[in-house]
Amino acid sequence: MGRMVDLDDIVSVDDIAKRYELTRQAVNLWVNKKTFPTPIRQGHPRLWLLPDVVEWRDAQPVPQRSRHGTRSRYNYGCRCDECRTAATNQHREYLESVVLTPDDPRHGTANAYRNYRCRCAPCKAAGAEANRIGRSRLAERAGPA
Ligand SMILES: [Zn+2]
Ligand SMILES: [Zn+2]
Repeated sequence: MGRMVDLDDIVSVDDIAKRYELTRQAVNLWVNKKTFPTPIRQGHPRLWLLPDVVEWRDAQPVPQRSRHGTRSRYNYGCRCDECRTAATNQHREYLESVVLTPDDPRHGTANAYRNYRCRCAPCKAAGAEANRIGRSRLAERAGPA
């Protein structure tokens, strides 16, 4: 420990799924691989450091079956026109599909505010609080040694 960790850098399976726009099932396949980074927290939910996950993901070989013009190929780093178009289209559909229902237990969390774009009062408050904490951590880090 001892390393300063940004709240945004701590991710669950759900957060990883959001980031890569995958299903939880798909992320669980990653997580179950022996090579996947060790969680910083075991138990429920398991949590990882985002930079570890990104590094692992970037090191994975591109699957044979992911062709150009697909979101998955884009996720593997291809930025050709076809792949970019596929990614943009899928991202738009994804955002349109993401709506928290009124009884969703995630209301009032920074996750709902940021990743689900919910702007109800409890979510706005949670988003503002997370930003405030983020800023004060930055200030601590920048402060006198
Ligand atoms: Zn491509
Ligand atoms: Zn909400």
